[in-house]
Amino acid sequence: MPADRAAIRATVPGEPSAPPPDEVAARARALGLLGWVRRAESGLLLHAEGDPAALERLAAELGAGAVERGRVEGHEQFAVRGVSAGAFVVQEHAATARHFDLRLEVDGVMRSWAVPKGPSLDPATKRLALQVADHDVDRDGFEGRLGDGGVIVWDRGAYEQGGRVPWPEAIERGHAVLVLHGEKLRGGFALQRTRPGPKAQWLLVKRRDDDARPGSDIVAERPESVLSGRTLDELLG
Ligand code: MN
Repeated sequence: MPADRAAIRATVPGEPSAPPPDEVAARARALGLLGWVRRAESGLLLHAEGDPAALERLAAELGAGAVERGRVEGHEQFAVRGVSAGAFVVQEHAATARHFDLRLEVDGVMRSWAVPKGPSLDPATKRLALQVADHDVDRDGFEGRLGDGGVIVWDRGAYEQGGRVPWPEAIERGHAVLVLHGEKLRGGFALQRTRPGPKAQWLLVKRRDDDARPGSDIVAERPESVLSGRTLDELLG
């Protein structure tokens, strides 16, 4: 990291009125700064890193309140955090073998991973996730018989893209951080590629946050569809 880089953590008071997060991000980018901004309880919270003079200028332009020295974290974008990036869905799928398909909306398609044991809210549990073909967005809500097997919509909602690297580059580089807002799955998760190639292997891991539930087994506790309340066994029955 060059020695002439610094970082700040700053709040922008909501009164009289904080600028919209998009506008803050645009100003920061125009100054060549990296980091993120999100809405906070009152106003905005931001992390910015880069040239010290540009940081001073951003803080002054925004009328930032508390400005603290931050740690340079190696951000590669200036992101708006806490906003939906699109839909996610987890479908439980009975095919040759039973598995769960995690799908994330990225640039108009559902990027997909087959997770044999399903997701976990326990940060100590790493679940194998095999990258599979993209899926059409309009098939997210499909539930029913499929060939000899079937599919239920096990969870769905919106998700946020996180991390220091912009998406979809984060996926191409094999490390993606995301926040799920589902009915069962909530909070931060990481997808880490462990074996690249055409049938890439990844690990899906819950991050340690307020939504983590150490020792839990959400797949066993909540087997039902979020659309119909049916389990996959009931559907196949
Ligand atoms: Mn599948």
